[in-house]
Amino acid sequence: MAVDNTLSPHGGELIERIASPKDAPHLAAGLTRIAVRDSIAREVINLCYGFFSPLDGFMVRSQVDSVVKNMTLTNGLVWSIPIVFDVSSQAIAEVGVKQGDSVLLTYQDQALAVLDVAEIFSYDRETMARHVYGTADQDHPGVMRTLGLEDTFLGGPVTLVNSPVINPPFDQFWKTPRELRQRFSELGWSTAVAHQTRNVPHVGHEWMMKGALLSSEADGILVSAVIGEKKPGDYIDEAIVLAHNRLREAGFFLPHIHETSTLMWDMRYAGPREAVFHAIVRKNLGCSHHMFGRDHAGVGNYYDTYAAHEVFQNLPDLGINSVLTLEWWYCPVCQSVAYEGHCGHRDQKEDLAGTVIRRIIDGGQEPAPTTLRSEILEIVRECADKYNSGSAFVTPKYLEKRAPVFSLPTLDCCTCTKHRPV
Ligand SMILES: [Zn+2]
Repeated sequence: MAVDNTLSPHGGELIERIASPKDAPHLAAGLTRIAVRDSIAREVINLCYGFFSPLDGFMVRSQVDSVVKNMTLTNGLVWSIPIVFDVSSQAIAEVGVKQGDSVLLTYQDQALAVLDVAEIFSYDRETMARHVYGTADQDHPGVMRTLGLEDTFLGGPVTLVNSPVINPPFDQFWKTPRELRQRFSELGWSTAVAHQTRNVPHVGHEWMMKGALLSSEADGILVSAVIGEKKPGDYIDEAIVLAHNRLREAGFFLPHIHETSTLMWDMRYAGPREAVFHAIVRKNLGCSHHMFGRDHAGVGNYYDTYAAHEVFQNLPDLGINSVLTLEWWYCPVCQSVAYEGHCGHRDQKEDLAGTVIRRIIDGGQEPAPTTLRSEILEIVRECADKYNSGSAFVTPKYLEKRAPVFSLPTLDCCTCTKHRPV
């Protein structure tokens, strides 16, 4: 039977699995607790608020196998990245969890969500890596991530019992799919083009967004900054988000055509597979279009430069349009910002590579307005001072000391006689 991938959100319904404050303590009471690490906590939150619609929880084995081998869920809907909860078999034995149990997932020693364990299973991690990344090379960070998963997976629906409190400066930017759709409606947007970013925007990024707005004819641009696992040398999250927001504040975008938001996601660097995933998640956020540039979500030389442009050609219509962009640069011959698809002076372009921008940010010199806006440099340096003792780039010390993106309040105990306290 033909599967309709085009309904919005993905699968047609926004999944929201959030216990009411009244029910939450009862749901959580007396359950076996499993503490989860940062990345699992982020995915629980994404599942429960519908970022990953139509998923209602962590995948069971048949779902993982279908995603890995066919790039679809078992019902035929396109899905490209396994969403799994890995636990060591030893830990499972220690807490005594079995299929059919409900367990309380905790984070930072606080209750987070209830997982109804539908299946406890194993899956060959190398097979998973080979299909998702197109390689089993251990130099690929996504492959390493997958091979590093624990040996057992718990699948089943999750229900949030304790809503995260997003900490500054991210609190003004993180919105659930429902809230973001509401925001689009306030802005009068019926169409929006998503820009996935992990960068402080240089002039090339700015024009890439402007070009995508023009070519898509969308009502606005949603900057969707990925906040998640970091490695030394990446931009610090605070600088990425606040710098994008400054583009609008400083008038490079009109207030009603530009919105900055965050997505809690750990990059897999899965190239084309991740491009498909990004499109689905942004569709769930309410976007009608998604930008894909050079080497989208790629790493090293594992994927063709424009693999993310091609992957959609072999998939059914996802109900979100790809906006394919080439490079923008400053051309001294054209004496303007120029587009790779127009300008014939490629050999004379001013390089906007990360290393050049990094030198400007680190070096104390004023950038030319053709590379990095002074307004952006200013906010990036402010962030460096405020959040990372002077550096805009992730350092081991930053990883150790940074304030958490979100916190969980203490869930009030259930005091009814039926339940033990949480
Ligand atoms: Zn030119």
